[in-house]
Amino acid sequence: MAAARPRRVLRTQAERRAAEKAWRQANPGRYRELKRRWRVNNREQRRAEHRARKIRRRAAVIAHLMQKQAGRCVYCPTLLSAKTCHIDHRMPRALGGTNDLFNLQLTCIPCNLRKHAKHPDVFAQMVVNPVVCNT
Ligand SMILES: [Zn+2]
Repeated sequence: MAAARPRRVLRTQAERRAAEKAWRQANPGRYRELKRRWRVNNREQRRAEHRARKIRRRAAVIAHLMQKQAGRCVYCPTLLSAKTCHIDHRMPRALGGTNDLFNLQLTCIPCNLRKHAKHPDVFAQMVVNPVVCNT
């Protein structure tokens, strides 16, 4: 049997959250089922929230890497902006690289397109005499 919800009116957001958390912990199976039903009935909202989260994460990753790389492409001296950079996987996903932050770097668009899915060491040899990319 499900635990009874508290009868008194919860006035603050913190009180409501604490009561909801207690209910979730007391009714894990029911909570899972309600959550599943909500996901099925709200696919568009879920997709919108997923997109929004992805955009916020991408912006945070770009801001972090931009600061780390002083706003420049890792392969050439091109100055980057959020709109003129690509997030590159140092070790390409095709070669087993991950999406972890330590595997990401910012490049200008021409450098990233030239690098494609090459191993970082192979591409580094190609960039012995880096060209300045005008993007
Ligand atoms: Zn570049």
